[in-house]
Amino acid sequence: MNVRACDLLVVGGGPAGAAAAIAARRAAPELETLVLDRQRFPRDKACGDGLGPGVVARLADLEAGGIVRGRRPVERLKIVAPSGAEVVGELPAIGESARGYVVPRSEFDDALLTRAREAGADVWTGSRLQGLDAPGDGPVRVEAGGPDGPVSINARAVIAADGARSDVRRLLGVPYNDSAHTGVAIRAYVERPGGFEHMAFYFKRELLPAYGWIFPIDERGANVGVMIDAARFRRQERNLPDMLEEFLRSSGHASLEPAQSRAYMLPFASHVPPLVHGRVALVGDAGSMINPFSGEGIAYGMAAGIEAATRAVRALRSGTDDRPFEGFDGWFRRRFGEHFRASARAKWLAQRAWIADFGVRAARRRPEFVREGIELLVGEGTALSWRSLARLLVHGRS
Ligand SMILES: Cc1cc2nc3c(=O)[nH]c(=O)nc-3n(C[C@H](O)[C@H](O)[C@H](O)COP(=O)(O)OP(=O)(O)OC[C@H]3O[C@@H](n4cnc5c(N)ncnc54)[C@H](O)[C@@H]3O)c2cc1C
Repeated sequence: MNVRACDLLVVGGGPAGAAAAIAARRAAPELETLVLDRQRFPRDKACGDGLGPGVVARLADLEAGGIVRGRRPVERLKIVAPSGAEVVGELPAIGESARGYVVPRSEFDDALLTRAREAGADVWTGSRLQGLDAPGDGPVRVEAGGPDGPVSINARAVIAADGARSDVRRLLGVPYNDSAHTGVAIRAYVERPGGFEHMAFYFKRELLPAYGWIFPIDERGANVGVMIDAARFRRQERNLPDMLEEFLRSSGHASLEPAQSRAYMLPFASHVPPLVHGRVALVGDAGSMINPFSGEGIAYGMAAGIEAATRAVRALRSGTDDRPFEGFDGWFRRRFGEHFRASARAKWLAQRAWIADFGVRAARRRPEFVREGIELLVGEGTALSWRSLARLLVHGRS
């Protein structure tokens, strides 16, 4: 078997892993960064393809904003209540950006991984991690398929960004989220001349406790889909393709023909497992970093990848190999914990038709509720305190 050594090994070349690799190379070009992905790129990934302002901000941090330049920006978001009442508001600002984009993941992920390669990371696609030995007091040993056959890799630190069914997480013995903290969703592409104006979330009565989305890609079409908690999905009689059809019908888009349907799971950040395991850190879906209300996960995964890589290269440079991710777990929980807790509360409320109607009614009178709702969905808001609930109660009464 071939043997290879590297400073930082990133498992998974999706947005979390690619962002980590770019950040590592930018901070420490003298350290060797190797990225493994079991798939060959460009590759598809079941997703709404929605890149919120958080993604745009992280791309700016990585000087990779060119990936979305020239694409049609999305600046407003629509929320549709069970009754059909709607509110529209601006996307929140994160960093310099108050806009989002909708870019098919086959294109976005390929462009980001190409940036990692250009930054000097060694990128092996079609290369699957199969074994992991992380003793804690020495380098991590990984068995994988390499470009020239099976390879044993010795890494000083490992960032696991290998997605919702992370092999690294399983091999570390960290259980996957249970169904109460997991979602399932289906996406498809539709064509419509002129496209759609806003990103839209539909909390339709016919679909609750699931919700539907329409995210406009360009003037020709959109990504549409439906998301539901896994635990509640199991108790339903409908399958995901039927729910997507029901969504399009109940939202007045029955004539659209969904193509390229694809479903997958979403580990929600209502349960984030311990993220640091000696010299290994979990980021992105591997660390359950998905907003339980909106299903957004790319921005948090990229933020975590960048932070984990920055900490690791700092430690490796100073020779403190035994604690490359010290403080990373606490950082993540401080940075996003309250936001995820508020988003989980908002989801609970939105799944109840009368409360969702009540909230949208209040939001039609008070624009700050629209802003706060959108910040929970695609920003970093923490607004759902008892105080804001009390205000909502006062203003929602008709
Ligand atoms: C239907 C659906 C809709 C969604 N909509 C949105 C949305 O609109 N906006 C948003 O922000 N988020 C959305 N999400 C969530 C989003 O897709 C994820 O949060 C995001 O992809 C996480 O990125 P990641 O880099 O952690 O993992 P991934 O993008 O899953 O990448 C993981 C990579 O690891 C590789 N890999 C896996 N195992 C191994 C192995 N053993 N060895 C080597 N490589 C391996 C895979 O091939 C893959 O390329 C949606 C999810 C679903 C399912």
